[in-house]
Amino acid sequence: MTEKRKRELKKLLKELKKVKGRHTELVSLYIPAGSNLADVVNQVRSEQATAENIKSKQTRKNVVAALEKMLQFLKQFREVPKNGLVLFCGNVSPVEGKEDIRLWAIEPPEPLKTKIYWCDQEFVLEPLEGMVEEKETYGLIVLDGSEANIGLIKGKQIKPLRHIESNVPGKTSKGGWSQQRYQRIREQAIHDFLKKIGEQASQLFLEQKNLKGIIIGGPGPLKEEFAEGDFLHYTLKQKILGIKDTSYANEYGLEELVKRSEDLIKEAAIMEEKEILNQFFTELQKEGLAIYGYEKVNEALEKGAVDTLLISEDFDMVRVKLKCQCGAEDERDVKKEEMLNQLCKNCGSKMQVVSKEDLAEILEEKATNYGTKVFIVSTETQEGIQFRNFGIGAILRYKI
Ligand SMILES: [Zn+2]
Repeated sequence: MTEKRKRELKKLLKELKKVKGRHTELVSLYIPAGSNLADVVNQVRSEQATAENIKSKQTRKNVVAALEKMLQFLKQFREVPKNGLVLFCGNVSPVEGKEDIRLWAIEPPEPLKTKIYWCDQEFVLEPLEGMVEEKETYGLIVLDGSEANIGLIKGKQIKPLRHIESNVPGKTSKGGWSQQRYQRIREQAIHDFLKKIGEQASQLFLEQKNLKGIIIGGPGPLKEEFAEGDFLHYTLKQKILGIKDTSYANEYGLEELVKRSEDLIKEAAIMEEKEILNQFFTELQKEGLAIYGYEKVNEALEKGAVDTLLISEDFDMVRVKLKCQCGAEDERDVKKEEMLNQLCKNCGSKMQVVSKEDLAEILEEKATNYGTKVFIVSTETQEGIQFRNFGIGAILRYKI
């Protein structure tokens, strides 16, 4: 799946998450890849018959209507799409007794294996959410004087990797040591402990291909000492996003750290976008390594000259082949929403769309072939909003 499609699907899922039914009348239907369409239709019909038994009149009416809408929608298919199909349908009107039955259809980006039929006050979104989940990786370290835990967060999953016990003695001497000498021994033990954490964390994190950042936590002041000292490999030290207080340094501490670091992770994504776009705008100003516009970027991609391809998440141009009843044919790059309103230059009537290609997807697929990085630009930062006017841009490897 292209980054662009992933982004769009994510947006849609976010919207669907907000949809609430007044009763258990929102229907989710997951049709696995390889299903027989006739069987699916029969199943929906039989669910519709069952729904006639729902006690509440309003709910019954809405569920039956939602299933009817699904059945009508399924008529346009000859077979189940390659990866399966997901339908969400139900009355979304916030007003009791009013009807606003909407249907959403999603062809999953990966072959769907789960079969679900479910009525609820909200839609079942988890299987699709799992498919678009960010697989970005962050390193986690929690520590205090007695232990340390190293882990990763990948998407929403926390993976504990290593547990290290310390040999650091308590704060006050118990034996016959002089307090001063005891303090020195203790400091040495702390240093050794931090060094060990640093070595092990460095080894584990350097193995990660796409480590976006590192977050450090723990209950005491030792975490600051660790973060500020030279315990982590220097390339990793630069990736420290922040330090957070947690109540524990055990595995539970890792979870706690993630909960408290949502802001840091969000901030890191924003920073990355700002950095890339600042580079783009600077290069553009000095007429250096930045270009924009579909044709130019496409040409540069084919030369293998693009380092980073930038696509605004708002970019929605499609290349359409059009045909008119008068016989005229045309190919145009237009906004998706204007695709169906193209008029013939010859006779002025509305033209028919013969085929369409998503321009961003064409470029993204090309990018993969040339080892070009793809960056989808949000519209949530100042720079991102500014970039929206360019739609598509690129930072080049060399000037062409
Ligand atoms: Zn015409």
